Amino acid sequence: MPPTFKAVIAGAGPAGLTAAYELSKQKAPVVVLEGDPEYVGGISRTVNYKGFRFDIGGHRFFSKSREVEDLWTEIAGPDMLNRPRSSRIYYRGQFYTYPLKPFEALSKLGLLESARCMASFAKARLNPTPNPRTFQDWVVNQFGERLFRIFFKTYTEKVWGMKCTEISADWAAQRIKGLSLGSAIKHALLPSRRPKDRTQVVKTLIDTFRYPRLGPGMMWEACTAKIRRLGGQVLMGRTVTGCRFDSDRNAWIVTAREANGRIEEFLGEHMISSMPIRELVAQIEPGLSSEAQLAGKSLRYRDFLTVGLIVHAEGRFSDNWIYIHDPSVQVGRVQNYKSWSPEMVPDPAFCSYGLEYFCFEGDGLWTSPDEQLLALAKKEIQQIGLANAANIVDGVVIRQKKAYPVYDDAYQQHVDTIRGAGETVPHAPPRRPQRHAQVQQPGPRHDDRHAHRKKYSRGPAPI
Ligand SMILES: Cc1cc2nc3c(=O)[nH]c(=O)nc-3n(C[C@H](O)[C@H](O)[C@H](O)COP(=O)(O)OP(=O)(O)OC[C@H]3O[C@@H](n4cnc5c(N)ncnc54)[C@H](O)[C@@H]3O)c2cc1C
Repeated sequence: MPPTFKAVIAGAGPAGLTAAYELSKQKAPVVVLEGDPEYVGGISRTVNYKGFRFDIGGHRFFSKSREVEDLWTEIAGPDMLNRPRSSRIYYRGQFYTYPLKPFEALSKLGLLESARCMASFAKARLNPTPNPRTFQDWVVNQFGERLFRIFFKTYTEKVWGMKCTEISADWAAQRIKGLSLGSAIKHALLPSRRPKDRTQVVKTLIDTFRYPRLGPGMMWEACTAKIRRLGGQVLMGRTVTGCRFDSDRNAWIVTAREANGRIEEFLGEHMISSMPIRELVAQIEPGLSSEAQLAGKSLRYRDFLTVGLIVHAEGRFSDNWIYIHDPSVQVGRVQNYKSWSPEMVPDPAFCSYGLEYFCFEGDGLWTSPDEQLLALAKKEIQQIGLANAANIVDGVVIRQKKAYPVYDDAYQQHVDTIRGAGETVPHAPPRRPQRHAQVQQPGPRHDDRHAHRKKYSRGPAPI
């Protein structure tokens, strides 16, 4: 008889651990099964290389929800720092403050280009594309064609590996929500006043954020420790390979595989999944409808790798990160971890930078040997002028599969189909269902529905 829990949770990222923590506080027995043998935190983990800490992207802790902010305080309390935000855009040899300061941007662009930008902005406002469907149409409506080409197009296409005309306007509306040329100008001109209501904050424009002093992984390690103290289990190196609803026991049987091939089963009244939806859909038994299966297979993800470089401190820049819009290099963003928290480096004589490359698992960048990626990163950071390659003493490559769900034209339809399949099935079927029945089978309920929404609510940092 497998061990029995109130909930079996797949994945020890922020979602899985938060669920486990909240349930443990209610004294519900839980087990979290995490595929990674070493790190909790998922995409929000912090990788430790010889005492240098690397964030997978930079993780700003900012939420419009007071409840979420309070939860972070409860977990990491005094380890949370309040950090100033500083970021810029690099484009054709120039650095532009981001969020854009319109007058600085216009002066760097020069009189002629500035006039063109203003004219194209006016044109877009007078004659906007009605009901914009694509990212390009949405941004051009907000900023005009020329500013779109300079400040949005190249970076966005590096991030997604597809044209701005193929990216859904939903993503732009969500990530750049509330930001327009008007709000950027207002932000640049008026002294920043703290909005009374957090929900009114334009996330892209926030100028301070919280950050655990040893990186985001510190939050999730603290959360894991709390779950264990409350009696919950967090098991590492357990890859969930199957989720089967047993109607006789009215419970989920979750199968996990260890690296040595050993298989274990866990019984849960509930199953909470934070694994990629595509994997979850393929694992649920009895199987979801064939439409839902097809929708699951059609979901696409964008992968991501960071080349971490350890550099003798040269003090060439103090930004937290710099967006690299320049088309002459492949790197998309450069992180400066010491600016996120001074404790990310073990020795103040060094800096650690993260050069972020967006790719698809299996493509040329993803499969390049580490030495080649390190050489590419050294060449590109010198080309941009952020470090002298001669001062780079060491480096490490960190790969992150399925970093972002791809917001193509069809994603919303696929998610709706999967959600629909989950919603039409009864929670506790009165009799044993057929193994491959299309109807009347149990399926993902509230927790999984939440995961669908959550997985599709984030994307890369704004342009
Ligand atoms: C570059 C980048 C920058 C970001 N910056 C920010 C930011 O500034 N602020 C912010 O709030 N958010 C940011 N995010 C988003 C944030 O990282 C995610 O929203 C968050 O990590 C999602 O948490 P999760 O638990 O849902 O999933 P994940 O973090 O993906 O965790 C899922 C976990 O499940 C495990 N898993 C997967 N499949 C299985 C399986 N079959 N069996 C067992 N375990 C499994 C994985 O190993 C992982 O540990 C950023 C993301 C990226 C990619």
